[in-house]
Amino acid sequence: MMLLTRKSDLSPNFSSDVQRFLYGKEYRAEELPFSDQVIKEHLNKGYVTMRPAITAYNAHFLDLFSYRKKWQCNRCGNRDQESFASCSCARCRKECVYCRHCLTMGIVRACSRLVRWVGPAPAASAPKSDGSELCTWTGTLSEEQNAAAFALDHALAHGDSFLVWAVTGSGKTEIIYKAIDRALREGHHVALATPRTDVVRELLPRLRSVFPTVSISGLYAGSEEAYPEAQLVISTAHQLIHYANCFDCIFIDEVDAFPFHYDPMLAFAVQKAAKPGAPIGYLTATPPEALKSAYLKGKLKGVKITRRYHGHPLPVPRFHWVGNWTRSIQKGQLPKPLLDWLLTKKQQARQLFLFVPTVTMVRELTETIQKEGFVRTAGVHAEDPDRHTKVNDFRNGKIRILVTTTILERGVTVPGVEVAVLGADDRVFDTCALVQISGRVGRSSASPSGDILFFHNGKTLAMVRARRQIEQMNKEGGF
Ligand SMILES: [Zn+2]
Ligand SMILES: [Zn+2]
Repeated sequence: MMLLTRKSDLSPNFSSDVQRFLYGKEYRAEELPFSDQVIKEHLNKGYVTMRPAITAYNAHFLDLFSYRKKWQCNRCGNRDQESFASCSCARCRKECVYCRHCLTMGIVRACSRLVRWVGPAPAASAPKSDGSELCTWTGTLSEEQNAAAFALDHALAHGDSFLVWAVTGSGKTEIIYKAIDRALREGHHVALATPRTDVVRELLPRLRSVFPTVSISGLYAGSEEAYPEAQLVISTAHQLIHYANCFDCIFIDEVDAFPFHYDPMLAFAVQKAAKPGAPIGYLTATPPEALKSAYLKGKLKGVKITRRYHGHPLPVPRFHWVGNWTRSIQKGQLPKPLLDWLLTKKQQARQLFLFVPTVTMVRELTETIQKEGFVRTAGVHAEDPDRHTKVNDFRNGKIRILVTTTILERGVTVPGVEVAVLGADDRVFDTCALVQISGRVGRSSASPSGDILFFHNGKTLAMVRARRQIEQMNKEGGF
């Protein structure tokens, strides 16, 4: 902790410690490792600003007639009145409203202040570059990838947001290297946000090896390494909430993925983390409606990639009726078609992902499969403390069958894996999720095809749409 009290610590106008700590971030005043006096001086001289963390707003003119105030949390953007509560506050000695939505990041109350830096930026931490590329990746892009990489870079360089609408397994990450490289050489701060911790963990080592001279920080719940001054930040969307007015360019991977879909806080976090007018690169296999229509109407620049980088078509899901699968799982029985498939795949020594709707089913089904003699089987779900170990064991082949909930629907890539969904008709499997799950198959050029099976008790619209979308992409890809 730095406590600045001596006058001499304030270099002519501001302290570089305060600048470094606060630049591009927003903190509650009580989180700052500086004395009140120091903060006050910076405030008076206009280097930092302070605003209330929670304010009242009028959502609708009708609210003028209601006596209850509507609250909004300025840290996380929460406006859901159910997510506010109040307590008698020791600090302001009043009944004080607080936000429950972002409580895990430390309480913000009506009497809390949010502090951010508005003074000059610290001297660029840009890697010394003689104009030569920072990216050391030596692979080659397909023609389609290459065209997309150029168009993306061109748009972002001119401050325009851009959509990369690319089939699963088309090599989206490689497409953004060019734009990242250019931005970094210009001394820009770049963020790559993704919805899931697993994806951050997968991308971090990859980008570190591709950009060896760049300081890169990986932020996810529980991550220990976070360099505040890193030029490139790879972060879950949740962790971006600590940033304010920081990034010159933000990439959002898997923009359609679950938390972005349902949690407006994450869109708020991205907006807040970006500098005003900073362009956003959206990467997705299944764009959400708003982005899709903006793109189709020409309001958002973008490119569509309908072929995987290895040039093979997307595996198309096959449907298998298995009757009441819920009851089978509860009774500890494997539906016959599933058992047959598992046996065949065992003979072929293939690795399998088996998706089920709930955590309970992960446990029950894992046990049943093990009892049937498939000993190298494990189950994972979001709360599983051994999740990362198990995923690693699966990657290195120690585990052959991984039973999982939708947490592994994206990001985790294992060459040669084949996939089944038991209970594909369950509501948790919407069209997007089913497309992503299908996209786990055939991603490597060594093994570009494989089974994707939907075991169900009655076809759903989501299943049919997912299959249609995949067939449509194959058609556009010229297959
Ligand atoms: Zn909040
Ligand atoms: Zn208070």
